[in-house]
Amino acid sequence: MTHTMTATSANRLSAKLPSSLSRLADIALNYWWCWTPDMISLFQTISPDEWERCGHNPVALLETVSYERLTQLTCDPQYTGRLEVLADQFDRYTTSDSTWSSRVAPQITSEHPIAYFCAEFGIHESLPIYSGGLGILAGDHLKSASDLGVPLIGVGLLYRQGYFHQRLNRSGWQEDYYTDNPFERMPLELQTDEAGRPLTFELHVRHRSVTIQIWKAQVGRVNLYLLDTDREDNDPIDRWLTGHLYGGNQETRIAQEIVLGVGGVRALQTLGLEPSVYHLNEGHAAFCLLEVCRLDIEKTGKSFYDVEKAVRDRCVFTTHTPVPAGHDVFSADLMDSFFANYWDQLGLSREQFLALGARRLGDPWEPFGMTVLALRLCRSANGVSELHGKVSRKMWTVMYPDKSEDAVPIGYITNGVHAATWAAPLMQDLYSQYLGDDWATQAVDPATWANVDHIPDEELWKRHQILKQRLIAHTRYKIRQARQQRGEDGSTIEATERLLDPTSLTIGFARRFSPYKRGDLLLRDAERALKIFSNQERPVQIIFSGKAHPRDEEGKRIIQRVIEWCRNHGSVNDRVAFIEDYDMHTARKLVQGVDVWLNNPRRPLEASGTSGQKVCFNGGLNCSVLDGWWCEGYQEDANGKALNGWAIGEDANTSDQALQDRIDSESLYRLLEEDIVPLYYDRDADGIPHGWIRMMKGSLKTNCPAFNTHRMIADYVAQVYAPGTQTSLAVTLAKVPQQNSL
Ligand SMILES: *Cc1c(COP(=O)(O)O)cnc(C)c1O
Repeated sequence: MTHTMTATSANRLSAKLPSSLSRLADIALNYWWCWTPDMISLFQTISPDEWERCGHNPVALLETVSYERLTQLTCDPQYTGRLEVLADQFDRYTTSDSTWSSRVAPQITSEHPIAYFCAEFGIHESLPIYSGGLGILAGDHLKSASDLGVPLIGVGLLYRQGYFHQRLNRSGWQEDYYTDNPFERMPLELQTDEAGRPLTFELHVRHRSVTIQIWKAQVGRVNLYLLDTDREDNDPIDRWLTGHLYGGNQETRIAQEIVLGVGGVRALQTLGLEPSVYHLNEGHAAFCLLEVCRLDIEKTGKSFYDVEKAVRDRCVFTTHTPVPAGHDVFSADLMDSFFANYWDQLGLSREQFLALGARRLGDPWEPFGMTVLALRLCRSANGVSELHGKVSRKMWTVMYPDKSEDAVPIGYITNGVHAATWAAPLMQDLYSQYLGDDWATQAVDPATWANVDHIPDEELWKRHQILKQRLIAHTRYKIRQARQQRGEDGSTIEATERLLDPTSLTIGFARRFSPYKRGDLLLRDAERALKIFSNQERPVQIIFSGKAHPRDEEGKRIIQRVIEWCRNHGSVNDRVAFIEDYDMHTARKLVQGVDVWLNNPRRPLEASGTSGQKVCFNGGLNCSVLDGWWCEGYQEDANGKALNGWAIGEDANTSDQALQDRIDSESLYRLLEEDIVPLYYDRDADGIPHGWIRMMKGSLKTNCPAFNTHRMIADYVAQVYAPGTQTSLAVTLAKVPQQNSL
């Protein structure tokens, strides 16, 4: 059934195309193209301008482009020839039975796949239903699962307006606004029944029945199902249940999490899918556990406590938050108003029900914790880096009174990134030449990356410089646009052309502007920062980007301080840039073009972080606090000399934030002044910085094999999805205990 529906949607689009281009339609409907550089280029060639205007959405592109242009392309044998080759590659990719997973873990089957639940998915900028690291990680998880052939489906929400857009007003204050996602013109397919009507199910939320429909996004071999309440037959308020990502108040939040968790399970049932494992990526989806219990009770007639073990055997959990306040909790009042009809169906009393979310059993008066529920009803739990695993065990000892901290059953699998998504095509091409055509599938093998030594320094540097120029062009374009929209004067707009210089040492800092990430740390000592930026012989420049959550006043103030700093230091205001409305497109440009990626969170608040890993795949260097993944990535030699990037600061083991901030910023300044800037400007007669390039190669060789999602997926298969599986991929970064019961 699913198969014919796919055909219908692609058919509709291909009917609009000349027959020799018809394959563009089904490929446009599968995000496989977004990590296949040749395919991106094929879409872009249709009309570079239209491609930009459509926000890199190939479905919208094909619907807008003139038929005349399409017929022109049919007369271009080179174009149709390239399409034929890629269509072939696509068919082989999507239909091959001989995958890594089918060899090492045949027990995971497509009849009973892994269901991966997450509140956000960052697949591509044309599907804006993500806010930051969690979503990007989820997107990369799906892509690597697809590449490796792991039978997996994603479950999430389709937000009519996604996450907010950011613009800065003239005083540097962030303004938030929303735009509609036109689902019908996106690479999505509404799931329908045999009669062509939308496939729906009913969910009780509060005191009303809500009708939910299901969309499918294809991510290679993986299907991502997205739930949508925006239907005319729903109450106007309920249509907004899937309106915004992380918007609204606690009441919106709990309602949304019910749609995601309970609704997600019901959606799979409606689609006739029977997962073998439910993977909750972060606590937002934890209500899914209740619904799995409810269905088991309904099916077997057993009691909650009798099905509990069988449910736990099928459910696994990944936590992402190293601070107690970051975990979703709901008051008993809210739980009452949303679940008063539900606990009966589980055969539980109110007290028994609320106890499921209380950290200590028998303490039903504290708020209902989503992480608590997940820890209680999942057979395995993991953090996302070694350090985060440790921090999580400590944070949750309270739930395990008879266990020592070390024995708390929360392990870790360190995050990674999807190499083909984040490595620039120009670099991928270099890797194909020097590491082998199959470098991406062999990315977990250190031997693959050892070949980096064969790349001539000049060649690596030339490509890196081109990528930096592209980043600068992108930055100028975005800033010019923003200045025009703010109505700034002509000379300011014109000055955009002189912003940044491709020969200067270029630092990037881009991520959500949460206060703990300390976006303005580098500017804290204004004079010292000024000296670094304004050095005539050895200039330094920095590009910022990132949004603060709409309710995060402190985050917005940090952005404003960055903007004000530039304004107050006119002499260097061509060396500091802020790109508004951070998204995956800007992220790609940044991680591909910078020399140095700066990351200075308050330790240990960055559970993993992944943006620095993307930089590694492009030869950029990390300068980061030893937090999250960088604790595992950073290497120095016996004399304490850095080999593959830099480590900022030292843990003063103090709760005095101002003191720790001073220590870290002092360390950052010294690193820049004494190590980073001198190394970058140490050139040979041809202007090539061989010492710097040695460091780039050191980073490629040590970081790339470890911090990619192929390694991460292999770890999830071997330790979480099918524990005990021997995989042929190097599985070195994971340690996840199994838990039978609390
Ligand atoms: C990778 C990425 C992130 C995560 O960045 P961190 O530094 O790991 O927090 C956030 N947003 C976007 C758009 C990204 O691509």
